[in-house]
Amino acid sequence: MSGAWNISKTPITKKHTHLHLETKNQNKEKIYLGYVDPRRFGFMYLVNQKQREAHLKKLGPDIYDPEFTPSFLQEMIKKFPARKLKVTLLDQKLFAGIGNYLASEICAHAKLKPTRSCKSIKDKEFPLLYQAFFKALDPSIKSKGLTFSGGYQDAFGEKGNGLQNLLVFHQKVCQNCLKGKVKSLVLAGRNTFYCPLCQK
Ligand SMILES: [Zn+2]
Repeated sequence: MSGAWNISKTPITKKHTHLHLETKNQNKEKIYLGYVDPRRFGFMYLVNQKQREAHLKKLGPDIYDPEFTPSFLQEMIKKFPARKLKVTLLDQKLFAGIGNYLASEICAHAKLKPTRSCKSIKDKEFPLLYQAFFKALDPSIKSKGLTFSGGYQDAFGEKGNGLQNLLVFHQKVCQNCLKGKVKSLVLAGRNTFYCPLCQK
């Protein structure tokens, strides 16, 4: 949610700019690229091509990659049967780019409790879980991301409108059934939200 690349025609002077690069565009005008990360969640590695490939291999596919299919999802969820569903969703080795708020939202769209063990997910629940990734992500991307507590901004410093799409994350009332009082708990050290009425 917070931490972003910034692109600008003037030097980036924002607080928490940890890396500042200067280059030129096709018109030979100066362009600045800044990595702004207030919470210092990001990592940066200086690697050669071979190391880069080895590093990327450790990550699971992006959700919009053709590799992410219903059968791939089922295989990954079954990989760690005893793990809780949301903990597996956050595993970057399985699904790259699923962060904390998305993992809660995916569980909400799939109508599954985040604390369900992976082995308890039934075959008939998988189609909805697969669709849930896109139900959570598509509107968020369309509304240019989620800006929470003044955090996330895109590369041009624009804030996202994704807050309007949330079902349970930091919500008081579930935006799915409009009845359930959203509950929160901590899973793998991260705040987790769910609706006790919709999510089984
Ligand atoms: Zn609900």
